[in-house]
Amino acid sequence: MSEPIILNTMHFDQPWTLENYLKVGGYQALRKVLAEKLSPEAIISEVKASGLRGRGGAGFPTGLKWSFMPRNYQGDKYLVCNSDEGEPGTCKDRDILRYNPHLLIEGMAIAAYTMDVKTGYNYVHGEIFEAYERMEEACEEARKAGYLGKNIMGFDFEFDLHNHMGYGAYVCGEETALLESIEGKKGQPRFKPPFPASFGLYGKPTTINNTETFASIPYIIREGGQKFANLGVPNSGGVKLFSISGHVNKPGNFEVPLGTPFKKLLEMAGGVRHGHKLKAVIPGGSSMPVLPAEIMMGLNMDFDSIQKAGSYLGTGAIIVMDETTCMVKALERLSYFYFEESCGQCTPCREGTGWLYRIIHRIEHGQGKPEDLDLLLDLCGNIAGRTICALGDAAAWPVQGFLKHYRKEFEYHIEHKRCLV
Ligand code: NAD
Ligand code: SF4
Repeated sequence: MSEPIILNTMHFDQPWTLENYLKVGGYQALRKVLAEKLSPEAIISEVKASGLRGRGGAGFPTGLKWSFMPRNYQGDKYLVCNSDEGEPGTCKDRDILRYNPHLLIEGMAIAAYTMDVKTGYNYVHGEIFEAYERMEEACEEARKAGYLGKNIMGFDFEFDLHNHMGYGAYVCGEETALLESIEGKKGQPRFKPPFPASFGLYGKPTTINNTETFASIPYIIREGGQKFANLGVPNSGGVKLFSISGHVNKPGNFEVPLGTPFKKLLEMAGGVRHGHKLKAVIPGGSSMPVLPAEIMMGLNMDFDSIQKAGSYLGTGAIIVMDETTCMVKALERLSYFYFEESCGQCTPCREGTGWLYRIIHRIEHGQGKPEDLDLLLDLCGNIAGRTICALGDAAAWPVQGFLKHYRKEFEYHIEHKRCLV
């Protein structure tokens, strides 16, 4: 495996300090940008060459997103980091905040310079208080050392970053709900378009990227976009943090090049627990369709390979299920999550998520009816693509995936009123 790019300070006792970050080339990329007065066009073209796609789940090309910000705009513009990771199975961004906060600060400062922004916000998920505290300390350290604030590193460039603690609502990870929340309103998604680049925070042009996306920027500027792209595979440039959880011996975050075989990642996580057989895997966070072991064991972990197999890379959160897993029970747990987290703003999601959960709950508890499975699919078809934000899709896709690959287990549950496993 290549040297880590994102979690590149982990060999130090205190990986989060400025002193240690400087030892691994920290803030050199920002210095290069300022000293060489790189043009925004040159930086954006480097980011485009890197093939960097958003690491928050949707995989939108980062360079393209940056190019949407209006130039010569008279008035405030904002930069926002989405550290509100809440997708079940995803626990990578908190490790960047906790262990390499200066990497995020440097990435955001470069982005701010590129898009001519003076103020940034980092919205941290409400349940990871330690990460918020660590970010606060790192920002203070960066201010004192001249990496944030006015005249950064002695150059004519100003940028400051404010950490904003969320309250733990999953929907606030949706970018427009997040903006509403920073503005002090109820965290509910807005209609899109307009996209944040034209109407963002306080109605001003805003770029929002995920934590890991910003954290990839210093390497791209220091080493060149092409070098980053070459680490991965076509259409999936660079390295990625994968959070592996569930029935493995060594769950955790693993940084590997995109395109790494799933089999290799499973080995890195110590293999399936107790020597059990692998049954199923959710490859990209709980909202992505589940895939059976036979498919996963032949797959590489990149955007295109996973999509061709019928799911999505999403956040790179790999949820491993072994042969002892009851798929009805697993889906019941997931469905409850989306029902609980729906903000209630639109009818298909508010009513549909509860309906999905109640049907799956009754199947799990021996009260299912044969017609329930078609009813579930019909409901999914009336939720996905018909809501204001992606939470509706996120609730429907797991149900569709579980029924596509494990329908027989659901039928068994309905007929025998107990698990197949
Ligand atoms: P999206 O595809 O609508 O948008 C992705 C990004 O691209 C956004 O920033 C959006 O503003 C921008 N964009 C898309 N089209 C654009 C256009 N035409 N013009 C300008 N900008 C454009 O996806 P989304 O709703 O932001 O996010 C959904 C994803 O979030 C899911 O795929 C899921 O994986 C992920 N997710 C992640 C977490 C987590 O904890 N990280 C939680 C829930 C969901
Ligand atoms: Fe709220 Fe669900 Fe509608 Fe999203 S899809 S706006 S979470 S009700």
